[in-house]
Amino acid sequence: MSELNVVGHLINGKKIHDTQRTQDVFNPSTGKVSKQVALASKETVEEAIAAAQAAFPAWKNTPPLRRARIMFKFKELLEQNAEKIAHLIGEEHGKILHDAKGELQRGIEVVEYACGAPELLKGEFTKNVGPNIDSWSDFHPLGVVAGITPFNFPTMVPLWMIPMALVCGNTFVLKPSERDPSSTMFLGELLYQAGLPEGVFNIVNGDKEAVDVLLSDSRVQAVSFVGSTPIAEYIYKTAAANGKRCQALGGAKNHAIVMPDADLDNVVNSLLGAAFGSSGERCMALSVAVTVGKEIGDQLIENLSKAIDSLKYGAYSENSNDFGPVITKAHKDKVVSHITSAEQQGAKVVVDGRGAKVAGYEDGFYVGATLIDDVTPEMDSYKAEIFGPVLQVIRVDTMEEALELINKHEYGNGTCIYTRDGEAARYFCDNVLVGMVGVNIPLPVPVAYHSFGGWKRSLFGDLHVYGPDGIRFYTRRKTITQRWPSSSVREGAQFSMPTL
Ligand code: NAD
Repeated sequence: MSELNVVGHLINGKKIHDTQRTQDVFNPSTGKVSKQVALASKETVEEAIAAAQAAFPAWKNTPPLRRARIMFKFKELLEQNAEKIAHLIGEEHGKILHDAKGELQRGIEVVEYACGAPELLKGEFTKNVGPNIDSWSDFHPLGVVAGITPFNFPTMVPLWMIPMALVCGNTFVLKPSERDPSSTMFLGELLYQAGLPEGVFNIVNGDKEAVDVLLSDSRVQAVSFVGSTPIAEYIYKTAAANGKRCQALGGAKNHAIVMPDADLDNVVNSLLGAAFGSSGERCMALSVAVTVGKEIGDQLIENLSKAIDSLKYGAYSENSNDFGPVITKAHKDKVVSHITSAEQQGAKVVVDGRGAKVAGYEDGFYVGATLIDDVTPEMDSYKAEIFGPVLQVIRVDTMEEALELINKHEYGNGTCIYTRDGEAARYFCDNVLVGMVGVNIPLPVPVAYHSFGGWKRSLFGDLHVYGPDGIRFYTRRKTITQRWPSSSVREGAQFSMPTL
């Protein structure tokens, strides 16, 4: 394979090729290898960290307004290049162009929020905390920070981190997913086109070897991670043991409670999109419907199975498709094995997406929309995050049972209740142990000026990403208390704790 087909790294604003180790990148729609990605060595990651370290002093002293201006320009460039970015995402991830554009737009919204940096970083001031004494807190950047991101949102998730970290005055090293690196690399190119000084943002492609350097190098002050729970836990523990600030977002199993009084048409429509959109490869995908009462359960299964028949899956480039393939052949096999295991453990596969084929794309990694009824909490497929176009239905008799089910699950990322009953919805919001909650909203992904994060084993760390928590994560508080004594007034030594 020619060198042109190898995705390298971006260090100091320049593309670098270090191709001692490479990995295939697939086009999941065709199932063919489309290019290769370089897997960074320890030396390459250290070079990126050194570039970020060298750029830090000037960048931290750049006025926030100037940093924000680069983000304004970056936003414009992202919008101008939206078509190209959507194709880069689709080619390597498989999501349909309309969905890829939606992903990009949600990322752009974080860039827009970050453009408010001068306001967001203003700090806090109190005059006269004591006689002639003023006090203020200001927010300092941390230094070099790292991001490690998953395959399923190759532009949106990096954009949860990059604009927030940069406007706060940090410099950045990003390690994107090695499975779909090209759209993320292009974000880096656009940042430099927007006027970012050399070294402020760097990308190393790679695997565990690169990640472990970021986790252990003492120059890296903080790590933001998004990915699966076992890796999130490893990242959090290792980063914390090495004295770094860390937020590590993990996997999910998002339940929708369908109450007996729910608007069924609305439920069916929104479950279709939330369960099967992006082939279920979203950390906020609704993968379990918990129906309360037999009647609504039966109706839901009947209406959903009819609606699923009209769904269209296929290649990313065909905008009329509802969803595309899953990311790899290995992942397809895993999703299929979860469906089989549910069946073997006694659940009923009502609509079966195993054996899906798309004409002209016979080798693509397709799984059709799958609906499974009579799932129970003991089943392995219920415990696991399937991350495919599979909707499981659990039937219960009361809302309390549904709530207990959700609260007992290992994950606590997103959830939703469908009801017309305000009291039930309010009780649910107050008592569910989940970080992001929807009421008649299937994918309650917080907008850019709130913050995103789950509870339980869906997030390790204290602060959520982007929004106000993003500013807190990427800054360190300093509080200054100041008095300018008058030369005519002299106080004697004080030995008790100063009070007013
Ligand atoms: P993943 O955990 O396999 O990979 C994520 C990142 O970690 C990648 O950059 C990868 O190279 C790196 N990595 C993988 N194995 C590693 C190891 N052993 N040591 C160090 N680094 C390693 O996740 P994925 O398959 O790319 O993404 C899907 C997962 O991400 C799902 O579980 C999904 O729920 C989760 N996710 C969560 C959120 C959230 O906000 N909670 C958002 C998006 C995705």
